[in-house]
Amino acid sequence: MAILNSQEEHFSWLVEASPIPMAVYKNEEMTISMVNSAMLQLWGKDASVIGKTYREALPELRNQPFFTTLSQVYLQGGICEVKEQRAEQLISGELQTGYFNFTYKALENWEGKITGVMHTAVDVTELVLARLQIAETKERLSFALQAAEIGIWDLDPVTHSLQWDQRCCTLFGFPEEHALIYEDTLNYVHPADREMVSKAVQRAINPESDGNYDVRYRTITKTDRQVRWVHCKGKAYFHPCGTAYRFAGTAQDITEEIKSRQREQQLLSLVAHNADHMSVADMKGNLIYLNNAARLMLGVDPETDLRTLNAHNFYTREELKRVQQDIMQELKKAHSWQGTIQLMNSKTKEIIPCHVNYILIRDTETGEVIGRGATARDLRPEIKAKAELKRLATLVDISEDFCNYCDLNGNTIYVNEAGSELIGIDKANMAVNSMYQYHSGSSSRLIKKEIFPALLSAGKWSGNLELVHQQTGELIPVYKQLFLIREEMTGQPVAIAGIARDMRAELNARKVLDRKNAELRLALNELEFLANAVPAVVWTSKRDGRLDYINERWEERTAQAIEESMGSGWTAVVHPDDLDQVFLDWKHCLRTGDPYQGEFRMLDHNGSYRWWLVRALPLRNEQGGIVKWYGSNTDISDQKEIQRQKDNFLGVASHELKTPVTSIKAYAQVMEMMFRRAGDLKNAELLAKMDSQINKLSNLIADLLDVTKINTGRLQFNEVPFNFNQMVEEVTEEVQRTSDKHLIRKELNFKQQFMGDQDRICQVVSNLLTNAIKYSPDADQVIISTKDCGNEVQVCVQDFGIGISQQKKDKVFEQFYRVSGTREHTIPGLGLGLYISSEIVKYLNGRIWVNSVEGKGSTFCFALPIKKNSKKNK
Ligand code: ADP
Repeated sequence: MAILNSQEEHFSWLVEASPIPMAVYKNEEMTISMVNSAMLQLWGKDASVIGKTYREALPELRNQPFFTTLSQVYLQGGICEVKEQRAEQLISGELQTGYFNFTYKALENWEGKITGVMHTAVDVTELVLARLQIAETKERLSFALQAAEIGIWDLDPVTHSLQWDQRCCTLFGFPEEHALIYEDTLNYVHPADREMVSKAVQRAINPESDGNYDVRYRTITKTDRQVRWVHCKGKAYFHPCGTAYRFAGTAQDITEEIKSRQREQQLLSLVAHNADHMSVADMKGNLIYLNNAARLMLGVDPETDLRTLNAHNFYTREELKRVQQDIMQELKKAHSWQGTIQLMNSKTKEIIPCHVNYILIRDTETGEVIGRGATARDLRPEIKAKAELKRLATLVDISEDFCNYCDLNGNTIYVNEAGSELIGIDKANMAVNSMYQYHSGSSSRLIKKEIFPALLSAGKWSGNLELVHQQTGELIPVYKQLFLIREEMTGQPVAIAGIARDMRAELNARKVLDRKNAELRLALNELEFLANAVPAVVWTSKRDGRLDYINERWEERTAQAIEESMGSGWTAVVHPDDLDQVFLDWKHCLRTGDPYQGEFRMLDHNGSYRWWLVRALPLRNEQGGIVKWYGSNTDISDQKEIQRQKDNFLGVASHELKTPVTSIKAYAQVMEMMFRRAGDLKNAELLAKMDSQINKLSNLIADLLDVTKINTGRLQFNEVPFNFNQMVEEVTEEVQRTSDKHLIRKELNFKQQFMGDQDRICQVVSNLLTNAIKYSPDADQVIISTKDCGNEVQVCVQDFGIGISQQKKDKVFEQFYRVSGTREHTIPGLGLGLYISSEIVKYLNGRIWVNSVEGKGSTFCFALPIKKNSKKNK
């Protein structure tokens, strides 16, 4: 027993000394036989518990599993270990929670009988609490991430394997079941952002970077192609050697944020580009925002900082006072204000009348007023439009046309002054007048049946209607234009506007015009009838000479249809040999306006050419400009033929007469000579008279021959130098011999040699002297004079005879022309001398003319050029 005792004591000492809390319970009641101070501290008890049962010593553990476990160990033996058992203990009067690792071990005596239980305990409260705290923190983090909808990911930069949570799974559309490596994940990034993301990752895991990763990009879910915006933030961690060993971070869905930012942007852009002025100011009146329209209106450049401006820039002093004192007070009371304000352009100081809407802006959360917003509409265009409208209304008022305005039932709302007068209504009562009242029955029916439907579909109508004068009942024809007026906003038709023009004057004028036109048409028809009735071809041409009318004779007389002759088509039938001359002469006349006269050949139906005399005169307007040419073509083929035959006859006759007359003259001269020699002077005298008559006869024959030569272009010229003065002297002398009654006085001043055909010039002088004597039977002198005029020689023969009337004097140079009168008839002649003289002078490029006074005498003159005194024969 001593040993035992000593063993027990030893054991007791061991228990006592152990730093590990220990207790020993004996017998079934679990009486505390040993307990060390560590255990007592754990229990929060003192040594008084020794000898007490476990239940008695620790009553607070009654409902906890310890007693049961202890009893089981006592009854069954062995060891029972309990880890981290929670225990609620009363320590210093307070129930405290602790965690313990227990060991219950059955104690046996030497017979193997269980005599007690040894209890050791380790306080693991701190450990358990720490672990619990970690778990809790983790849970809280996960909860926070979940609440913030943030996903987490973890990339191994070495293996490129990637881990992610459920949230990332949704964000990127990653498959849940299998693992992905980093490169695969790029396929879930929007193609447009892929390169940017890849670069950002490379940069983050580059040891030279700070390892930070912060990108926003789009992902595309493979299954439904849904696009999401994500904001990924992460950090790479590096080994001291520089290689990245971890790259982890978060991913947040910012789709809504981006969308709302876009919406915000859209809204802002809407406001910025709104045509109305929009502004925001704080409650002190400091401007915070001006949209583009407002900046433009107020003269604030886009780059101007609004803080540099104040209300004085935008209001006049008085208007600012009104805004600050009255309007702002009103706004605070009623929360909104609208009305007209005069704003001012800060640059130009122009006053801009505006309709303004003020509202208070409140904080959506707190409801506190944080500023005021304003929208302003520039009233200038409206004011201008109103002024314009007023001007327009005045215009309508004073318009001379009928202007009216009525509702859709035809009730007159307005008729202008001219309208009231036209239909004879009292302007004051016009509202009661229906438009059907002042339109004729047929017009009213037309308005109802056709015009109204047309107006409603097309918006306008115009045409002729009849108004009725309300006093006289007169029907007034008008040209009316009607317009449908629609309500601006809804487009609903509201009224009809009309303008009517009184057509009476116009219709009367038109009637007069129609009558005049009919008369003109008749006159033209008559004229054309007349033109077609005359035997000659008559025609008209335009100012430029292009034919525009020709009568029917043309078709009958030429080989061309009227239509083909128009313009310059007629030239196609002109003889090719005549065409150049025709053109030349016609163009000359068109240019100068001289009357045209020409003879040329044109092709007839039988294919032969006929001669035509064509004459044309220009018709001139009041200013003297040529308007048209009027012409006639006369067929002179027959005349030409007769002329030809006459010329032929004259040629043959004079030629045939010449030879016998020459013989007779010779015989007469011989006989005269013979009688004179025989002394028969009486007969000699008779023969001399006969000779002088034969001279006259041969002169006549010579004249006839010359005329036929002229007409056939066979007059011969022989140009030689000769003494002009001597020639004149000789001719004078010769003529003097034929008249005893007249003295031919000579005033000869041209004494030069002259180049020309002496005989022909001599013929001219002789002819003039002969005529002078012949046509001045009662006078006794004739004067012949020559004059040197520098470049020409002028010869004049003056007589004091019967003279020639003014009208006839120029005709005396025509072939066979003789002035008819009682006196002239007594003087013989053929009317050829002056014609031949004038043709000779013309051939020599000279001029011939006459000055004469009837009953007083005549002076015939001709002039010949001195230098160019010869001309080749024709
Ligand atoms: P003719 O004398 O043979 O009749 P002319 O040709 O010489 O023919 O003259 C034409 C006409 O001119 C004459 O018939 C005459 O009437 C008029 N005449 C010519 N010379 C004179 C003159 N010196 N005085 C008046 N009449 C003249």
